[in-house]
Amino acid sequence: THALSLLNVILDYPDGDGTTKALDRVDLKVPAGTLTSLAGPSGSGKSSLLAVAATLIRPTAGVVLVDGVDATALSLKESAELRRQKVGIVFQQPNLLASLTALEQLQIGAHLRGEKPRDARSRGLELLDIVGLIDAAHRRPHQLSGGQRQRVNIARALMGSPRVLLVDEPTAALDHERSEAVVRLLVQVTREFDVATVMVTHETEFIPLTDAVATMRDGRLSAPRSTATADAPP
Ligand code: ADP
Ligand code: ADP
Repeated sequence: THALSLLNVILDYPDGDGTTKALDRVDLKVPAGTLTSLAGPSGSGKSSLLAVAATLIRPTAGVVLVDGVDATALSLKESAELRRQKVGIVFQQPNLLASLTALEQLQIGAHLRGEKPRDARSRGLELLDIVGLIDAAHRRPHQLSGGQRQRVNIARALMGSPRVLLVDEPTAALDHERSEAVVRLLVQVTREFDVATVMVTHETEFIPLTDAVATMRDGRLSAPRSTATADAPP
Protein backbone atom coordinates (compact mmCIF):
# COMPACT_ATOMS: atom_id res chain seq x y z
CA THR A 1 0.00 0.00 0.00
CA HIS A 2 1.05 3.58 -0.54
CA ALA A 3 1.38 5.42 2.72
CA LEU A 4 1.70 8.66 0.75
CA SER A 5 -0.01 9.58 -2.53
CA LEU A 6 -0.17 12.89 -4.33
CA LEU A 7 -2.71 12.81 -7.16
CA ASN A 8 -2.78 15.52 -9.80
CA VAL A 9 -1.62 18.14 -7.31
CA ILE A 10 -1.48 21.78 -8.37
CA LEU A 11 -0.08 24.58 -6.21
CA ASP A 12 -0.31 28.19 -7.36
CA TYR A 13 1.31 31.00 -5.42
CA PRO A 14 -0.07 34.48 -6.04
CA ASP A 15 2.71 36.50 -7.65
CA GLY A 16 2.16 40.17 -8.51
CA ASP A 17 -0.52 40.24 -11.18
CA GLY A 18 -0.34 36.51 -11.93
CA THR A 19 0.51 33.22 -10.24
CA THR A 20 3.55 31.00 -9.98
CA LYS A 21 2.73 27.36 -10.61
CA ALA A 22 4.95 25.75 -7.98
CA LEU A 23 3.38 22.31 -8.53
CA ASP A 24 1.87 21.43 -11.89
CA ARG A 25 -0.20 18.23 -11.96
CA VAL A 26 2.15 16.32 -9.68
CA ASP A 27 1.61 12.59 -9.15
CA LEU A 28 3.67 10.69 -6.61
CA LYS A 29 3.04 7.42 -4.78
CA VAL A 30 5.41 6.27 -2.09
CA PRO A 31 5.02 2.74 -0.71
CA ALA A 32 5.59 2.12 2.99
CA GLY A 33 9.12 0.99 3.72
CA THR A 34 10.68 2.80 0.77
CA LEU A 35 12.66 6.00 0.34
CA THR A 36 12.16 8.18 -2.73
CA SER A 37 14.75 10.86 -3.51
CA LEU A 38 13.43 14.13 -4.84
CA ALA A 39 15.92 15.87 -7.12
CA GLY A 40 15.73 18.98 -9.28
CA PRO A 41 17.15 22.49 -9.54
CA SER A 42 16.54 25.29 -7.08
CA GLY A 43 13.11 26.84 -7.56
CA SER A 44 11.67 23.74 -9.26
CA GLY A 45 9.13 23.08 -6.50
CA LYS A 46 10.77 20.53 -4.20
CA SER A 47 10.08 22.41 -0.95
CA SER A 48 6.54 23.08 -2.10
CA LEU A 49 6.01 19.37 -2.71
CA LEU A 50 7.30 18.51 0.78
CA ALA A 51 5.08 21.16 2.38
CA VAL A 52 2.01 19.87 0.56
CA ALA A 53 2.84 16.26 1.44
CA ALA A 54 3.32 17.36 5.06
CA THR A 55 -0.18 18.91 4.97
CA LEU A 56 1.46 22.21 5.94
CA ILE A 57 0.21 23.82 2.72
CA ARG A 58 -3.09 22.95 1.09
CA PRO A 59 -2.76 22.58 -2.68
CA THR A 60 -4.83 24.63 -5.11
CA ALA A 61 -6.16 21.38 -6.57
CA GLY A 62 -5.58 17.65 -6.35
CA VAL A 63 -5.54 15.06 -3.61
CA VAL A 64 -3.00 14.29 -0.89
CA LEU A 65 -3.52 10.90 0.73
CA VAL A 66 -1.68 10.29 3.99
CA ASP A 67 -2.14 6.70 5.12
CA GLY A 68 -5.35 6.59 3.06
CA VAL A 69 -6.83 9.83 4.39
CA ASP A 70 -7.38 12.74 2.00
CA ALA A 71 -5.73 15.66 3.78
CA THR A 72 -7.21 18.18 1.34
CA ALA A 73 -10.74 17.31 2.52
CA LEU A 74 -10.00 18.04 6.19
CA SER A 75 -10.43 21.18 8.26
CA LEU A 76 -7.22 22.91 9.35
CA LYS A 77 -7.64 21.43 12.80
CA GLU A 78 -8.17 17.93 11.43
CA SER A 79 -5.19 18.16 9.11
CA ALA A 80 -3.03 19.33 12.02
CA GLU A 81 -4.14 16.23 13.89
CA LEU A 82 -3.40 14.01 10.87
CA ARG A 83 0.05 15.58 10.63
CA ARG A 84 0.71 15.01 14.32
CA GLN A 85 -0.29 11.37 14.09
CA LYS A 86 1.10 10.36 10.72
CA VAL A 87 3.81 12.71 9.50
CA GLY A 88 7.41 13.14 10.61
CA ILE A 89 9.35 16.09 9.25
CA VAL A 90 13.12 16.51 9.20
CA PHE A 91 13.92 20.11 8.36
CA GLN A 92 17.23 21.07 6.85
CA GLN A 93 18.34 22.87 9.99
CA PRO A 94 18.03 20.57 13.01
CA ASN A 95 16.65 23.53 15.05
CA LEU A 96 17.20 21.77 18.33
CA LEU A 97 16.51 23.64 21.55
CA ALA A 98 19.82 24.79 23.03
CA SER A 99 18.96 24.05 26.64
CA LEU A 100 17.67 20.49 26.16
CA THR A 101 19.57 17.21 26.03
CA ALA A 102 19.21 14.90 23.06
CA LEU A 103 16.76 12.74 24.99
CA GLU A 104 14.72 15.75 26.11
CA GLN A 105 14.47 16.99 22.50
CA LEU A 106 12.72 13.71 21.73
CA GLN A 107 10.55 13.75 24.84
CA ILE A 108 8.94 17.16 24.46
CA GLY A 109 6.85 16.21 21.43
CA ALA A 110 5.55 13.15 23.26
CA HIS A 111 4.86 15.32 26.31
CA LEU A 112 2.84 17.74 24.15
CA ARG A 113 0.90 14.78 22.74
CA GLY A 114 0.05 13.76 26.29
CA GLU A 115 1.99 10.51 26.33
CA LYS A 116 3.16 8.98 29.57
CA PRO A 117 6.63 10.28 30.50
CA ARG A 118 7.92 6.79 31.11
CA ASP A 119 6.81 5.59 27.66
CA ALA A 120 8.30 8.66 26.01
CA ARG A 121 11.59 8.10 27.79
CA SER A 122 11.91 4.47 26.79
CA ARG A 123 10.92 5.20 23.20
CA GLY A 124 13.36 8.13 23.12
CA LEU A 125 16.19 5.93 24.36
CA GLU A 126 15.27 3.22 21.87
CA LEU A 127 15.40 5.73 19.01
CA LEU A 128 18.68 7.25 20.19
CA ASP A 129 20.09 3.73 20.22
CA ILE A 130 18.87 3.13 16.66
CA VAL A 131 20.50 6.33 15.38
CA GLY A 132 23.75 5.50 17.17
CA LEU A 133 23.54 8.16 19.88
CA ILE A 134 22.75 6.25 23.04
CA ASP A 135 25.96 7.49 24.65
CA ALA A 136 25.02 11.08 23.83
CA ALA A 137 21.50 10.96 25.28
CA HIS A 138 22.29 13.53 27.95
CA ARG A 139 24.31 15.93 25.82
CA ARG A 140 23.03 19.30 24.73
CA PRO A 141 23.26 20.47 21.10
CA HIS A 142 26.54 22.39 21.58
CA GLN A 143 28.12 19.15 22.79
CA LEU A 144 27.07 17.30 19.64
CA SER A 145 28.68 17.35 16.20
CA GLY A 146 26.73 18.38 13.11
CA GLY A 147 26.21 14.75 12.16
CA GLN A 148 25.00 13.88 15.62
CA ARG A 149 22.56 16.81 15.67
CA GLN A 150 21.10 15.62 12.38
CA ARG A 151 20.69 12.14 13.92
CA VAL A 152 18.77 13.65 16.86
CA ASN A 153 16.65 15.50 14.33
CA ILE A 154 15.82 12.22 12.57
CA ALA A 155 15.10 10.40 15.83
CA ARG A 156 12.80 13.23 16.90
CA ALA A 157 10.81 12.99 13.66
CA LEU A 158 10.26 9.28 14.35
CA MET A 159 9.06 9.72 17.94
CA GLY A 160 5.41 10.00 16.93
CA SER A 161 5.55 6.73 14.92
CA PRO A 162 4.75 8.46 11.62
CA ARG A 163 3.62 6.66 8.46
CA VAL A 164 5.23 9.33 6.29
CA LEU A 165 8.69 10.84 6.76
CA LEU A 166 9.60 14.02 4.86
CA VAL A 167 13.22 15.07 4.82
CA ASP A 168 14.56 18.35 3.45
CA GLU A 169 18.21 18.18 2.33
CA PRO A 170 19.49 16.38 5.41
CA THR A 171 23.11 16.48 4.28
CA ALA A 172 23.38 20.14 3.27
CA ALA A 173 25.67 21.03 6.17
CA LEU A 174 27.65 17.77 6.40
CA ASP A 175 30.85 16.48 4.86
CA HIS A 176 30.81 13.57 2.43
CA GLU A 177 31.31 10.74 4.89
CA ARG A 178 28.74 12.00 7.38
CA SER A 179 26.32 12.72 4.54
CA GLU A 180 26.51 9.15 3.34
CA ALA A 181 26.01 7.87 6.89
CA VAL A 182 22.90 10.03 7.31
CA VAL A 183 21.40 8.80 4.02
CA ARG A 184 22.12 5.20 5.01
CA LEU A 185 20.48 5.83 8.37
CA LEU A 186 17.38 7.25 6.65
CA VAL A 187 17.13 4.14 4.47
CA GLN A 188 17.56 1.96 7.55
CA VAL A 189 14.81 3.64 9.58
CA THR A 190 12.53 3.72 6.54
CA ARG A 191 12.72 -0.09 6.47
CA GLU A 192 12.67 -0.58 10.21
CA PHE A 193 9.61 1.60 10.81
CA ASP A 194 7.92 0.78 7.50
CA VAL A 195 7.49 4.45 6.78
CA ALA A 196 7.08 6.14 3.37
CA THR A 197 10.02 8.54 3.07
CA VAL A 198 10.66 11.39 0.64
CA MET A 199 14.08 13.04 0.79
CA VAL A 200 14.94 16.23 -1.05
CA THR A 201 18.55 16.09 -2.14
CA HIS A 202 21.04 18.00 -4.22
CA GLU A 203 23.67 15.31 -3.91
CA THR A 204 23.06 12.86 -6.73
CA GLU A 205 25.82 10.57 -5.52
CA PHE A 206 23.72 9.27 -2.64
CA ILE A 207 20.60 8.62 -4.74
CA PRO A 208 21.69 5.03 -5.57
CA LEU A 209 21.49 4.24 -1.84
CA THR A 210 17.75 5.06 -1.93
CA ASP A 211 14.93 3.12 -3.60
CA ALA A 212 13.73 5.51 -6.27
CA VAL A 213 14.28 8.98 -7.64
CA ALA A 214 11.88 11.51 -9.10
CA THR A 215 12.98 14.84 -10.54
CA MET A 216 11.18 18.19 -10.34
CA ARG A 217 11.48 20.71 -13.13
CA ASP A 218 9.38 23.87 -13.29
CA GLY A 219 6.74 22.35 -11.05
CA ARG A 220 6.46 19.11 -13.04
CA LEU A 221 7.54 15.84 -11.46
CA SER A 222 9.02 13.04 -13.53
CA ALA A 223 7.72 9.53 -12.95
CA PRO A 224 9.84 8.02 -10.15
CA ARG A 225 12.34 5.50 -11.42
CA SER A 226 13.78 2.69 -9.38
CA THR A 227 17.45 2.91 -8.53
CA ALA A 228 17.71 -0.90 -8.40
CA THR A 229 20.74 -2.18 -10.24
CA ALA A 230 21.30 -5.52 -11.93
CA ASP A 231 23.02 -7.03 -8.89
CA ALA A 232 20.29 -5.98 -6.46
CA PRO A 233 17.77 -8.59 -5.31
CA PRO A 234 14.54 -8.53 -7.38
P1 ADP B 1 12.72 24.36 -4.55
O1 ADP B 1 12.45 23.81 -3.20
O2 ADP B 1 12.88 23.31 -5.61
O3 ADP B 1 13.85 25.35 -4.56
P2 ADP B 1 10.26 25.87 -4.14
O4 ADP B 1 9.18 24.90 -3.86
O5 ADP B 1 10.86 26.59 -2.99
O6 ADP B 1 11.41 25.17 -5.02
O7 ADP B 1 9.72 26.99 -5.16
C1 ADP B 1 8.97 26.67 -6.33
C2 ADP B 1 8.50 27.96 -6.99
O8 ADP B 1 7.52 28.59 -6.13
C3 ADP B 1 9.59 28.98 -7.21
O9 ADP B 1 9.29 29.68 -8.40
C4 ADP B 1 9.46 29.89 -6.00
O10 ADP B 1 9.93 31.19 -6.31
C5 ADP B 1 7.97 29.88 -5.76
N1 ADP B 1 7.61 30.07 -4.34
C6 ADP B 1 8.00 29.30 -3.31
N2 ADP B 1 7.45 29.71 -2.16
C7 ADP B 1 6.68 30.78 -2.46
C8 ADP B 1 5.83 31.65 -1.70
N3 ADP B 1 5.67 31.50 -0.39
N4 ADP B 1 5.21 32.64 -2.36
C9 ADP B 1 5.35 32.80 -3.69
N5 ADP B 1 6.11 32.01 -4.47
C10 ADP B 1 6.78 31.02 -3.87
P1 ADP C 1 30.06 12.87 13.70
O1 ADP C 1 29.54 14.12 13.03
O2 ADP C 1 30.52 13.06 15.10
O3 ADP C 1 31.03 12.10 12.87
P2 ADP C 1 28.21 10.85 12.92
O4 ADP C 1 26.89 11.25 12.40
O5 ADP C 1 29.20 10.44 11.92
O6 ADP C 1 28.74 12.00 13.86
O7 ADP C 1 27.97 9.64 13.96
C1 ADP C 1 27.98 9.84 15.34
C2 ADP C 1 28.53 8.61 16.03
O8 ADP C 1 27.60 7.54 15.97
C3 ADP C 1 29.80 8.13 15.39
O9 ADP C 1 30.69 7.75 16.39
C4 ADP C 1 29.36 6.90 14.57
O10 ADP C 1 30.39 5.93 14.50
C5 ADP C 1 28.20 6.38 15.39
N1 ADP C 1 27.18 5.78 14.55
C6 ADP C 1 26.73 6.24 13.39
N2 ADP C 1 25.74 5.48 12.93
C7 ADP C 1 25.54 4.50 13.82
C8 ADP C 1 24.62 3.40 13.91
N3 ADP C 1 23.68 3.17 12.99
N4 ADP C 1 24.68 2.61 14.99
C9 ADP C 1 25.61 2.83 15.94
N5 ADP C 1 26.49 3.85 15.91
C10 ADP C 1 26.46 4.68 14.86
